[in-house]
Formats: sequence, C-alpha cells, structure tokens
Amino acid sequence: MTGIQWVRSAGLADIADKVHAGVRLDEADALRLLRSQDMNAVGWLANLANERRNGRRATYILNRYINYSNYCILSCAFCAFSRKKRDADGFELSAEQMVAKAREALALGITELHIVGGLHPSLPFSHYTGFLRALRALDPRLQLKCFTAIEILHLAWLAKKSVADTLAELKDAGLASLTGGGAEIFSKDVRARIARGKESAAEYLDVHRTWHRLGGRSTCTMLYGHVESLEDRVDHLRELRALQDETRGFTGFIPLPYQPENNAIPVRTAPTGLDQLRTVAVSRLYLDNFDHITAYWVGMGLKMAQLALSHGADDIHGTIVEEHIFHMAGAKTPQMTAEKDLVRAIREAGRVPVQRNTFYEAVRVWEETAVVGVADVPSGGDASVERHRETVDAGG
Ligand code: SF4
Repeated sequence: MTGIQWVRSAGLADIADKVHAGVRLDEADALRLLRSQDMNAVGWLANLANERRNGRRATYILNRYINYSNYCILSCAFCAFSRKKRDADGFELSAEQMVAKAREALALGITELHIVGGLHPSLPFSHYTGFLRALRALDPRLQLKCFTAIEILHLAWLAKKSVADTLAELKDAGLASLTGGGAEIFSKDVRARIARGKESAAEYLDVHRTWHRLGGRSTCTMLYGHVESLEDRVDHLRELRALQDETRGFTGFIPLPYQPENNAIPVRTAPTGLDQLRTVAVSRLYLDNFDHITAYWVGMGLKMAQLALSHGADDIHGTIVEEHIFHMAGAKTPQMTAEKDLVRAIREAGRVPVQRNTFYEAVRVWEETAVVGVADVPSGGDASVERHRETVDAGG
C-alpha cells in the first residue's frame, strides 16, 4: 500500500488533507491520531510534515550532562533522582568539580553543558551565578543550557528577586538556554498525583515566557505514559503550541517516555514502542510552529530513536556522557552514546547527520562520508570530530 492508501484505510483522509494543505490540526485531530492503531498511516503523515520542514537532515549534539546536586526540598512522586540530606547517596558538586567535568568534556569536543539539579535546601544564589561564570570562563563558546522552570522559581526565591531579574542575572553570568524539564503533564489533577508541590503549568509557562521576552530560547518537554490520559497529552501540547504562537522562543520539543522504577507511581511499565512512536508523530503533526522534535534516546533507546526519525523526529539528542535522572528511574540505556554511533544511527535511517549546537544551528554536516561545512566550535572539537570521522568511515 502507498502512504495515501494507509491514510485512507485508517480513516484519516481528512487529517491528511489538512496536512497537505498546511492547515493547522485541532485538538480533536490530535486525539484521533493518538488513538489510531495504524502506525503506518500516522507515521507516514508525520514524516511528510517533518521532511517538508527539515528535509532529509537529522541532528545530534555533542553535550555533557552535569547534575550539580540531587538534594531537593520537594518529593515528586515520579522522581527517583532526588535525595534528602540524611540520605547516604545524596551528592553536591563544588564549582571546581563542575569545572573539572567541563574540562574533560571540552577535550571531547563538546559544545553544550546541560546542567540541572534538585531544589537544594541551602546553597545560596551566588553559588549558581558562580559556577556559571567559572564554566563560561573556560571557553566562551561552550553553551550553558541550565535549569528547569522550577529551579528558576527556586533561584528567584533565593535571590529575593522577580523571575525576570533572576533570569537576567543568570544570563549575565553565562546562561545560554533554559532546559525544558519540569513540564511533566500540565493537567492540574495529574500534577497533584505525580508532582505535588511543584510549580503549576501556568508558572512553568510563565518562566519560559519571561525568558523568551528577554531574548532567550529554550526547549520544552512532556513526561508521558504514566497516569495521564490521551486528552491530557493533547491539552499539554495545546498549551505549548499557544505559548510558541506568542513568543516563538522554543527551539524544540522533547517528549519524554516515563521510566517506571524506583518511584511511588503505581505504573510498572514504560510506554510501549508504538506509544512512543505515535507520541513523537502526533507531536510533529500538531506542533506546527515548532521546528524540531527530538527522539530522546536515553528514554527510548537508540534503536527506537532511530526509528522515530521516519515518524516525525528530526533530532536524536546528544552524547550525554553522564546521566542520572532517567537511569535512577530504571532506564536501561547506556550512560553515553559516542558521536560515531549517533552518526551511524542517523545515516542508517536514511538521513543526513548534522551536528548541531544548543540552538539547533548546524555545526557540521556529514554528507556521505565527508564532513561539509564546519562552524566555529569550542577548542578540542576539531580533533575529536576528525577522530570520530575516521571511525565512522571505517565502520561504514
Ligand atoms: S522532579 Fe525535580 S523538583 Fe521534583 S523531587 Fe525530583 S528533583 Fe525535586
């Protein structure tokens, strides 16, 4: 069957007409697509929408995660990461320890540090601006993507300043982008069940709105596959699309499949493969004002992320190097993926691999076995990429 035949036999011809005509899908369309059992039809449509926007290119980033601490004053039910001061496996890093990790990362050619932590009970605001300044001093081209919306509210409370003034101060210290974490699911009822005490949906959106108004960019997320309904997912996407209409400040959307271990939510399985692919595909189709949809390999696994590249995703995220949050919740994926494996996964999916920076701008384009186009990257990058290129070329 051809794609259009799949779509007709799935009863989705009217939605296909909208996609072809560039007409915005509504919430009822998104719900029908999420309920559809015909993955071929939904995936084909999402692939169409993605290729129209991004062509055959698919991106990845050389990044390193740093969690500065897992101490947190909250106790979100889904969280396997946070610890109290009394816990033996709590940790916090000094600015010097963070700089040491960043130095190692720079030697690997990494362009972005992704830095988040719990809501620490006692560190002062100056600690956060201090580590940002220390990291920026290492190499000003290193992009610091830091903090979730709830961390920003916590920091504003510590600084005794408005959110706007807090963000401006963090930006001055080196903050390049906010992370998208902490969105979970916007539904008030679901939030009360999985993240009691956390910021409301309105607060999450307002932190990002404020950041965008300061000229900042950020990503956004949705944690799905736990106790929420499909209607809740659509409602979540609706809120994100509305803010994007207003600010155009989101660079990309990252759907995060729930990891079921070591937490208090009574859901024992992660979302199935089809659910993950469908959620990526519907995100691509519904979020028509977002340029990029990420298949997050840490949560999906690299094989599933690779498949998602033909179901609407155009990005498979990054090298990561050291991940705690998903792995403490039971993720079975490795701690890191080498650049050569990301490039190979993208190439095998029939796409052109493109190394991107934090803002999804191309750093390197891998046409066939050659690199064409190299943008300015932090020191260490060139040698590392050349090394990886040899490996990729040798391995096909
Ligand atoms: S999800 Fe974030 S805010 Fe909630 S307990 Fe975990 S670290 Fe704290």
